[in-house]
Amino acid sequence: MTCAEFLKELTDYLDDALDSRTRAELEDHLVWCHECFVVCDTTKKTISIYRESKLYELPDDLRGRLHNAIVSKCKSKKPDAAAPDDKSKR
Ligand SMILES: [Zn+2]
Repeated sequence: MTCAEFLKELTDYLDDALDSRTRAELEDHLVWCHECFVVCDTTKKTISIYRESKLYELPDDLRGRLHNAIVSKCKSKKPDAAAPDDKSKR
């Protein structure tokens, strides 16, 4: 099995949708190919983070406030933006 073949089957492998023979071939490839092992491992972790994050769904209003906070933080990141609080404190 080549790396291209491996990557083609990877999503089915992670979905547990492969027959046992193809599955065995993929696992055999993982033994000697470090690159595919890393890809497989990273994808697996990404999927599990995604699945776990569903358990911690944020309440809508908190999500909105968080979103606004992030957006306003990004907007204030202009290079010439002096801290707006400075003048009013004097
Ligand atoms: Zn490979």
